[in-house]
Amino acid sequence: MFEKVLIANRGEIALRIHRACREMGIHTVAVHSTADADAMHVRLADESVCIGPPPAKDSYLNIPAILSAAAITGADAIHPGIGFMAEKAQFAEMVEEHGFVFIGPTPAHIRAMGDKVIAKKTVADAGLPVVPGSDGPVGTVEQALEVAHDIGYPVLIKAAAGSGGKGMKGARNPQSLREAFGLARGEARAAFGADDVYIEKFLTRPRHIEVQVLADTHGNAVHFGERDCSVQRRHQKVVEEAPSPALNAEERDYIGTLASRTTQRIGYRGVGTMEFLFEDGQFYFIEMNTRLQVEHTISEMITGIDLVREQIRIATGAPLGFDQSDIRFSGHSVECRINAEHPETFVPSPGRIEGYHAPGGLGVRVDSALYDGYLVPPNYDSLIAKLIVHGATRNECLMRLRRALEEFVIGGIETTLPLHQRLIQEQDFINGSYDIHWLEGLLARIR
Ligand code: ADP
Repeated sequence: MFEKVLIANRGEIALRIHRACREMGIHTVAVHSTADADAMHVRLADESVCIGPPPAKDSYLNIPAILSAAAITGADAIHPGIGFMAEKAQFAEMVEEHGFVFIGPTPAHIRAMGDKVIAKKTVADAGLPVVPGSDGPVGTVEQALEVAHDIGYPVLIKAAAGSGGKGMKGARNPQSLREAFGLARGEARAAFGADDVYIEKFLTRPRHIEVQVLADTHGNAVHFGERDCSVQRRHQKVVEEAPSPALNAEERDYIGTLASRTTQRIGYRGVGTMEFLFEDGQFYFIEMNTRLQVEHTISEMITGIDLVREQIRIATGAPLGFDQSDIRFSGHSVECRINAEHPETFVPSPGRIEGYHAPGGLGVRVDSALYDGYLVPPNYDSLIAKLIVHGATRNECLMRLRRALEEFVIGGIETTLPLHQRLIQEQDFINGSYDIHWLEGLLARIR
């Protein structure tokens, strides 16, 4: 087992990883920018190293600074968390070249899955159904028009290197495709440094269903069931639940088994997520995330398995300690992502926390690095807390969620708490009848 792990991240996820390490008897090293000197992950870690000024490019994305911190503290392994370095193949490579263990997949898998065109081809070859679209990158408007003609409008132009819901443009007809194509390439280049784009059929009312997978380095792979992440704004997840209210037992078993089998077939290692759109009883693969996901928590709640702990164990080369039949699913879980943003305009709202009270009680979990008096810096992602609840049934879970949201106090800044309080009382949400466009529709109605 590792003696010391460096956590190359910040905020709630750094804390989440610290907690898993602590329970495994592993010492932790926090790294931080000058803006995060007083952050909770720094306070709780055994050691901490300042790796640069506030802008992420100079600190949390500063590879030499992170590797130096690992060297001077004598860390055995580096956990990249979520975002920042988590899906940078070059970072994973350099970590290993410098003699540390990268707690994550191989650089080759990160690279292959980071290019969504290659990812789709890889999983399609392994037998997964994918969203109809171009076979590879599309380089010219003429080619784009041809693909769209074949698959039918509306279509979506997507950046091969896209992530975080960015780099997507829809087109309803040839005219709008002509206009959107150049724009999409320009935006992809600006955001991701690469202008490769591909075309997909735009599904008009799908649900986003993803499967949590885990594989060891001995050829074993399992799944932890699905998560329904259809409540989205601007292609970004807002609320997630597990299991999905839209799947029956047969569909659940089908997609879980298919995802873990594919994970095994491609020789993957560590935790990962296979994302699908689900419409009219059909699943279509969209991408694989080669890292822990923000919403891994709800899979933990319904299985009782600590995914970060398993991730760390597997990185040591240990085999999975259980097989699929040992994973028991129990009850229902929902997560609300609470952002430091105005609940109606979504304008970021960094600043000092004045008054903080986290909800508690049976089946309530809050993953957050907030505390009273903490200054939320303006430099990073606006996610400040995840409220996760578990109940024996979906109904119990929703009642508990409502109660916990009422108790939650985050003073001093604007947060999206009121949005969550509102949306979970919507009849469509209560009925579980929503698709990926539902929240946008609701926001347009209540504005
Ligand atoms: P990212 O990596 O940026 O998160 P994804 O490919 O995972 O991008 O897609 C994010 C979200 O965008 C999906 O959950 C879904 O809401 C929407 N989306 C992606 N592809 C399609 C599609 N072909 N049709 C309709 N919506 C889509």
